[in-house]
Amino acid sequence: MAGVPSSKTTTRLKIKRSNPAAGGAESYSEFDVDTEAWTTVLDAILAAKNYGDHSVGVRYSCRQATCGSCGMMINGKPRLACFTKISELDGGTVTVEPMKNFPIVRDLVVGFDRLFRSHHRIKPYIISDEADIEEGVRENRQTPEELEKYIQFAGCIKCGLCNSACPTMATDSQFAGPQSLAQVYRYVADTRDKGKDERLKIIDDSHGIWRCHYAGSCSKVCPKGVDPAMGIQLLKGHMLGFR
Ligand code: SF4
Repeated sequence: MAGVPSSKTTTRLKIKRSNPAAGGAESYSEFDVDTEAWTTVLDAILAAKNYGDHSVGVRYSCRQATCGSCGMMINGKPRLACFTKISELDGGTVTVEPMKNFPIVRDLVVGFDRLFRSHHRIKPYIISDEADIEEGVRENRQTPEELEKYIQFAGCIKCGLCNSACPTMATDSQFAGPQSLAQVYRYVADTRDKGKDERLKIIDDSHGIWRCHYAGSCSKVCPKGVDPAMGIQLLKGHMLGFR
């Protein structure tokens, strides 16, 4: 019986290491990992961790691009490690580094406090004064057209890749960031929500929506098809009273 052709190869994986709390210098650890056509960057990191160096710091959970935990710089671009196959990259050494614009906890693990604070600040839930709906007495129906206005933004998994790609995040430590601004649009565009005025007020400050200069890099890296740059532009229309 003819054998099944194998795509097995060896990939050099370079992992950036650092531990700011311990004050150590930054360095890179290199590993040679067996990979197949379907091997993801996360699989390779875990192989390096399991068989090379247990101390490699990496955060992950679902392994199916849903939890948003394994964002990192892969060959210089923000990507989800579980959603990036090594065979899709350019070939050669695969270099993984912690996401930019986030504080490093250790190795590939970064702190999400700023992102979650920003997300929480914009009140990420339906604000409604219709008490019978909140009590579950009746449905609050929408047409497919009304759903279409915000549904792509509801797919955000809070992975932070957009914030990592954003040039304004790099220069303004208090900027709200594309993730939370896109979520403001998600609720403003939802016909069930009545919190538009209070949300627009929250982002109308010197570190809010007007700091976005439409570089568009956030939308290029989103693994879930969200277009934060477009959401922010549409939101500016609401701010200026055009919508
Ligand atoms: S908008 Fe996209 S890239 Fe940004 S946090 Fe949400 S899922 Fe991640």
